[in-house]
Amino acid sequence: MRFPKRPWAEPFKIKVVEPLKVTSEEDRKKYIVEAGYNTFLLRSEDVYIDLLTDSGTNAMSDYQWAGMMLGDEAYAGSKNYYNLEANVQKFYGYKYLVPTHQGRGAENMLSHCLIKKGQYVPGNMYFTTTRLHQELAGGTFVDVIIDEAHNPQSDFPFKGNVSIQKFEDLIKKVGEKNVAYITIGATVNMAGGQPVSMENIKAVHALAHKHGIKVVLDATRAMENAYFIQQREAGYADKTVAEILLEFTSYSDAATMSGKKDLLVNIGGFVAVNDWDLFEELRNLVVIYEGLHTYGGLAGRDMEAMARGIEEAIQDDHIAARVNQVAYLGNLLDEYKIPMVKPYGGHAIFLDAKKFYEHIPQNQYTAQVLAAELYINSGVRTMERGIVSAGRDKDTGKEYAPALELVRLTIPRRVYTQAHLDIVAYSVAEVYENRKNVKGFKMVYEPKYLRFFQARFDKI
Ligand SMILES: *Cc1c(COP(=O)(O)O)cnc(C)c1O
Repeated sequence: MRFPKRPWAEPFKIKVVEPLKVTSEEDRKKYIVEAGYNTFLLRSEDVYIDLLTDSGTNAMSDYQWAGMMLGDEAYAGSKNYYNLEANVQKFYGYKYLVPTHQGRGAENMLSHCLIKKGQYVPGNMYFTTTRLHQELAGGTFVDVIIDEAHNPQSDFPFKGNVSIQKFEDLIKKVGEKNVAYITIGATVNMAGGQPVSMENIKAVHALAHKHGIKVVLDATRAMENAYFIQQREAGYADKTVAEILLEFTSYSDAATMSGKKDLLVNIGGFVAVNDWDLFEELRNLVVIYEGLHTYGGLAGRDMEAMARGIEEAIQDDHIAARVNQVAYLGNLLDEYKIPMVKPYGGHAIFLDAKKFYEHIPQNQYTAQVLAAELYINSGVRTMERGIVSAGRDKDTGKEYAPALELVRLTIPRRVYTQAHLDIVAYSVAEVYENRKNVKGFKMVYEPKYLRFFQARFDKI
């Protein structure tokens, strides 16, 4: 063979386009000040390439849009609900489904049902909304991820894994009755989109069940996780992503899901469980917070788009193109010697802000500064995933200072071309070259919950 590896390509072509607006650097300096140096507070029309998040920013297919026209907007018993239920059962393997408007709706209800005040909820690194709902339900989150996850330089292939030792130590320390359940995020967003191995979730499931503890999967990016297992774990190379996902979910008792990620839609989520009594309780709660149990805050057409999104997202060629596009950006940045988390994540590249701006201490919001500088340079919008996102300890009120101080360049699914990513990489390289004279921030407005969304900053 003349070439070592066959290149990949997108398994689709483009039918509808949306023009982008290019702004001047002078304008962008004004916009970012107006936004309090918080990329969440920019107007989207002032953004050139939007890598804020892969949440709800996906491009839907003609098959999904056709499904939108078949929305059955009945208050109760919509046809689209049954289509969604059938596909969740078929591809995720859970018995019962309650749709929600998005992932946090599912987290709210599940935390409400499963956590008794004072209980502990271990998990493989926190996620912002997940931890807050656990705390609001009276629980205390405990991080039981392996140590490698906190090290951006470690090239361990499954940095999302739970430390079985830490999980076991917690059970011993507080007693199994005081552990509400364990959450497994796959892939782990805050660790840099890092996967969990099949071997690990199997071991977690065995230990949890020995102690009568439920395993709850945050299935938001579980399909991307399944792809990494196919690529990296012995014995899975010849299995499809669909087969791997079904085995993976079989080691959990329930799942919360943000359909806005893996499932190629703009809105939607669900909670899925195997236990009838838990289902009964969730089905009852959903009418308080979301809507009737056969729509959960979604229009019929949105449930149809999600049902069809599952079918498309689970295809091996889709996931391969998705994850490899992220790696394409990673490889470009690597050529420019940009400090970032390795291995590359499934949904995003995470810049290592501590290494980027070695002269800006973490309490001056290093990653927040970097996100603002990237926007000013080129109109590329990214997201802080460091001390601002981590927030404060619920008991002491002190700021968490996470080991990882990152900026996330998140790739929306089926939205941008490689040429867009060339521009992004070039822009990051320019900002890196000009890193010396950049100054830190102070926070001038801090909201009480999930402060990263609406906090405002000023230059020191
Ligand atoms: C986005 C996300 C959620 C929350 O879902 P929403 O749809 O944004 O409410 C939960 N967990 C993870 C890992 C996520 O990325």
